[in-house]
Amino acid sequence: MNIILLGPPGAGKGTQAKKISEQYSLPHISTGDILRHNISMNTHLGIKAKSYMDKGELVPDELLVDIIKARLSEKDCSAGFLLDGYPRTIPQADTLGKLLADSKRKIDVILNIHVDDEELINRLSGRRMCSCGTSYHVLFNPPAKEGKCNACNCELYQRDDDKPETVRNRLVAYKKQTQPLIDYYNKKALLSTIDGGKDIPLIFEDIRKVLEKYD
Ligand code: ADP
Ligand code: AMP
Repeated sequence: MNIILLGPPGAGKGTQAKKISEQYSLPHISTGDILRHNISMNTHLGIKAKSYMDKGELVPDELLVDIIKARLSEKDCSAGFLLDGYPRTIPQADTLGKLLADSKRKIDVILNIHVDDEELINRLSGRRMCSCGTSYHVLFNPPAKEGKCNACNCELYQRDDDKPETVRNRLVAYKKQTQPLIDYYNKKALLSTIDGGKDIPLIFEDIRKVLEKYD
């Protein structure tokens, strides 16, 4: 099963991706995580991407082509994958379509997680991350031990781009560049919209109901 998770920053894509990936044994491919890894390793790509990410802007499409191409050609993606945060623009969606067609694959379903703006701001301002990729929320999804990851006991941190000014820019970028993908994929009859305003386990139940049709 080849799945795309679509939705604004803070909608809960990463949170649900972790559950979907475990339940359906699909590799979770987050372009945000890949870019942050490149930043931490000080790679050429990381240095270029950082200037955009710090401002809450999308990194240019061309910086992601080789990354996504290489990742989707890895063996663990042959039986399916879960994309989180890619595509984020129409040119990226076109690139993805061509890459998949070249390897005789296609997207099966796009899960579009919808959450109101006010709730997104609350979620992003209270988000705390672990370097293992798990995300928490100080109020809505707190770790068992304050400031520590449940899975690996590492210290949690706040993402730089979860600061209020950057969050505003990220929401503007989402509306301008990513939201048009809803229409793009709706026209291809691939989109299922999920109410992301519910509690985390209830959203996962709704997602499972959609995925049952493709499993
Ligand atoms: P995204 O990957 O879409 O940017 P995350 O999965 O990191 O979003 O979630 C953003 C924040 O909201 C995190 O702090 C997460 O713990 C919290 N969160 C995720 N889903 C919900 C939910 N259904 N209700 C309340 N908080 C949530
Ligand atoms: P995320 O972890 O998905 O919230 O992404 C964090 C940041 O990484 C975004 O605000 C963008 O700057 C950058 N990014 C991640 N994925 C993409 C993408 N597909 N296209 C452009 N920029 C991206």
